[in-house]
Amino acid sequence: MKLSTLVVDAGRLYANYAKRLEKLEIFTLKDFLYHLPTRYEDYSNIVAIQNAIPGEIATIQGQITEITNNYTRSHKQIQRARLTDDTGSLSIIWFNQPYITKTLKFGDKVSVSGRVESDNGILQLISPDFELIPESGTTIHTGRLVPVYPETQGVSSKWLRRQVFKILEQNRYELEEFLPDFMIKNLGFMELHAALSEIHFPNTLPLAEKARARLGFDEVFLLQLANIQRKREWQEKVVGNTFAIETYKKEIDIFWEKLPFEPTNAQRRAIHEIFADFTSTHAMNRLLEGDVGSGKTVVAAIAMYLSYLNGFQAVLMAPTEILANQHYTTIKSLLEPLGVKVDLATGSKKTYSSSSERSKSRSSEDSSRQARTINSFDILIGTHAVLSEKINYEKLGLVVIDEQHRFGVEQRSIIRSKGTNPHVLTMTATPIPRTVALTVYGDLELSVLDEMPKGRQIVKTWLVPAQKREAGYIWIEEQVKKGDQVFIVCPFIEESESLTTIKAASTEFERLQKHIFPKLRLGLLHGKMRPKEKDGVLEEFRKGTIDILVATPVVEVGIDIPNATIILIEAAERFGLSQLHQLRGRVGRGDKQSYCLLFTESSSLPTTNRLKSLEHIHNGAELAELDLKMRGAGELYGTMQHGRKWLKIASFGDTRLLEISKQEAIKVFPTLTRHPLLLEKVMEASVKQVSPD
Ligand code: ADP
Ligand code: MG
Repeated sequence: MKLSTLVVDAGRLYANYAKRLEKLEIFTLKDFLYHLPTRYEDYSNIVAIQNAIPGEIATIQGQITEITNNYTRSHKQIQRARLTDDTGSLSIIWFNQPYITKTLKFGDKVSVSGRVESDNGILQLISPDFELIPESGTTIHTGRLVPVYPETQGVSSKWLRRQVFKILEQNRYELEEFLPDFMIKNLGFMELHAALSEIHFPNTLPLAEKARARLGFDEVFLLQLANIQRKREWQEKVVGNTFAIETYKKEIDIFWEKLPFEPTNAQRRAIHEIFADFTSTHAMNRLLEGDVGSGKTVVAAIAMYLSYLNGFQAVLMAPTEILANQHYTTIKSLLEPLGVKVDLATGSKKTYSSSSERSKSRSSEDSSRQARTINSFDILIGTHAVLSEKINYEKLGLVVIDEQHRFGVEQRSIIRSKGTNPHVLTMTATPIPRTVALTVYGDLELSVLDEMPKGRQIVKTWLVPAQKREAGYIWIEEQVKKGDQVFIVCPFIEESESLTTIKAASTEFERLQKHIFPKLRLGLLHGKMRPKEKDGVLEEFRKGTIDILVATPVVEVGIDIPNATIILIEAAERFGLSQLHQLRGRVGRGDKQSYCLLFTESSSLPTTNRLKSLEHIHNGAELAELDLKMRGAGELYGTMQHGRKWLKIASFGDTRLLEISKQEAIKVFPTLTRHPLLLEKVMEASVKQVSPD
């Protein structure tokens, strides 16, 4: 069977395991080979029975000379066996595994591994690992470094080991080397099949390390090549629209004069980079990365203004209605005085409707809520409603996407197709270390707003230990009485919003309202509420008729409520630093001093130290770096890609690997077509990389 065979199509044995294997992200036979061990059991010490030393871990190989199933007084079953080699014999005991007496028979040649014990001078092994010695003599569960895998209910390491071994043997020829010979030689790499064999069944630990280095390189290298290729394809697109800039110097100056503030140097730099893209011969594809509050909106606004000046439409797509509304208000106030026609398209205006909303609106009595055709606009702001057929794009020149990971590839390509290769500006507040951004988003150009607007106060942050919880609540109540408003973020239970999380939020909401703040006005907000309910609650909070908003962690990023000055985060230890920083960014938006209280029940020193770093670090990029160091890239990407892991083998912390693989990718790219196997791998990597979460 080919490596690409799906588990469900690979015969009864595998098909029966398919559901369970899904949990381990094993979908094809090949995935078994990339399900890598987390550690190895060292069973490589093979000894003759007479040399076995009590207390040591050893492997003993011999013949079964006795095997019985016995009952204890408490009706439990015990399996006893005698193992004999040329030098002596010892006894083995297993508990409650009666099947063993069917697997192992008198005279069988077996290999057993475990700790040698001494029972009054008599050697014995208790519940050792074991296997029949196959004709080839190659054991896989004993007598060597034995791989231990991430497991799941009903899928043991022992079972996985057997499958991996079999697949490695049977698909040897399919595991052809895809890296060019010169690379293998120059980089001193193990070949592919050898690397896969060594990582699962290593001869020595250093060889396993070497294998891991090779496979980790593959992972990053293919990512980099896929990026270069996508970037090249993008650049080959004919430009529908270079924008003139010099011509509109006066208009741009007026835009600046009308702004109530001076742009930061970082904003100036980003705008400069965007303008340079606008005048070049290929369409822009740029990522604007900037901490919460760093002022991305103005940058987007001037880009859209320039598009307008050049006679093109621009569209801004935001992930939620609340954010779309917010952007609409801001951009309208900036650009309408300059004669720009700004319009809004969101689901609730029924410009665009999903099928379920459509059926609802049919029964709706109000005909004004019917789908609205949007015809002439210069700038359109909206949710995914901007993708609607009902919107007539005439000359789309610029697409701005806020919070890119909330949109799938498909949505991105639909919106692009509404124009002729429009420029694309993507914005994100997820702070990613630059090195990582260049790997993950290597096909995009990168602009970073690494500087906060002047006069912004830092959010005073305190880690509040369990015994100060009550004092924390009392302080909050005092602040509310002085007119402040508060966010309380409920314990983070799962990655995405689930019923459990919502239930926890509701319970916490009731507890707070009843027992802690009976005199204050509390509101509840979570992602599964209907948009209207959400808007209602937020509106009340904005107006000040709610004092404390209890919310789940996925409560909209970017919500802008200047009077909210306190955020309390429960179970802070469950979040990454970047995530906490993003949550904290919901306060400190006005000119009043703001506060962030991190509650934790944990008293572990590493945890409290980690959280305490938020007390003195207020820079998102710096915190992202720390996250990377302390919790590993998996965490970082867990928070950023909704659980997707970009890298399974290599680590983003390995900057040397990122650099080397990039250099190699740049070197080999021009001759990629001469290496068809490599090309094929790059295509595969590319598909995986851009497919939606
Ligand atoms: P984000 O990057 O999180 O999207 P926004 O664009 O919403 O940030 O900006 C946050 C706030 O900072 C807004 O109220 C905006 O008007 C203000 N702002 C943006 N740039 C500057 C600046 N250079 N100086 C002062 N205030 C600024
Ligand atoms: Mg924003």
